[in-house]
Amino acid sequence: MLARLVAFPTVSRDSNLDLIDWVEDYLKSFGARCRRTWNADRTKANLFAAIGPDAPGGVVLSGHTDVVPVDGQDWRTDPFELTERDGLLYGRGSADMKGFSAVFLARLALLNRSALQRPLYLALSYDEEVGCLGIDHMVEDALANFTRPDFAIIGEPTTMQIVRAHKSINVFRTVVTGRAAHSSQPHRGAGAILAAARIIEHLDSIGRERRAHAGDSGCEPPWTTVQVGRIEGGTAVNILPSHCEFLWEYRGLPDEDPEQIIESLQGFIDGEVLPDLREFAPEASVETTSVARVPPLMPDSEAKAERWVRDLSGVREGGSGEVSFATEAGSFQRAGISSVVCGPGSIDQAHQPNEFIDPAELRRCEAMVDDVFAYLCGAN
Ligand SMILES: [Zn+2]
Repeated sequence: MLARLVAFPTVSRDSNLDLIDWVEDYLKSFGARCRRTWNADRTKANLFAAIGPDAPGGVVLSGHTDVVPVDGQDWRTDPFELTERDGLLYGRGSADMKGFSAVFLARLALLNRSALQRPLYLALSYDEEVGCLGIDHMVEDALANFTRPDFAIIGEPTTMQIVRAHKSINVFRTVVTGRAAHSSQPHRGAGAILAAARIIEHLDSIGRERRAHAGDSGCEPPWTTVQVGRIEGGTAVNILPSHCEFLWEYRGLPDEDPEQIIESLQGFIDGEVLPDLREFAPEASVETTSVARVPPLMPDSEAKAERWVRDLSGVREGGSGEVSFATEAGSFQRAGISSVVCGPGSIDQAHQPNEFIDPAELRRCEAMVDDVFAYLCGAN
């Protein structure tokens, strides 16, 4: 099954429909009730499937179908052909995260569907790797059409450890528009790059302040991080630049109010940067727009899903923790479904050339999935 899924080159920029078509046919052979939700130009789809009774108490097993590109990476094998070498399985997506999806799809063959007391839901999303763009639509559609599940397991690679909380991702583009002028005449224009530099300096001070007040979160590092990843602007050293834009992000601790940083930045722009820009160029502006936002997985004081997953084999010996990488779990949690992240393989292999998964991880995941099926059949 994993070889089959890896063979679909579902890089985020490309369509995932060949994979979705194949999986939907496969799921229908198990009597699944399937629903698709689409991106705007219908080149990509989420697939949400229900098996068993339409009843409360269900469980969602969730994976994303897309993978990151292999461009410029030095692969020793064909990244889209699962290849065994020295006991490890190499291929793009083997760990992040077709391994989990392959396990739950393959184990369906052993499920006694007529014994299900509670529904099994399977969720396959698109565009996780480019900002979790597909998931909210799928969750919304699923809740409108099926009974709300109790638990969700998002099988991102955690080496089968339980992740109960993770950071948010918040990506923004800030565009500074000034006015061009000869560099000998700065009082006739407004330089966008220097204004952008002041804003970036302020972002850095926010990041340093967050670091100085690091808490005891299990996230690595245990503070909210702020980064600027890309910048462009200007034409020549003797021209005041009329344009500068940069892409930046912050990754907030699970309990950080995600609005606070953007509000603080906007206050600085309105109070300090814009008045200076507009001294000689009243039309100058600074616009910040959201590019992507992935909600955090918040620590859950009741820890319902965590306690439930703790008892499943394959997970039993592992620890619980918090991580810095973001997943789709926050979307399920916001929909009122108690969620954890737990899946086979290591995040250290994710996005790397020669990505691999250890088959022993898949075995442990099989044990967990079999226990989920047994739970749904009322056996524990
Ligand atoms: Zn992933």
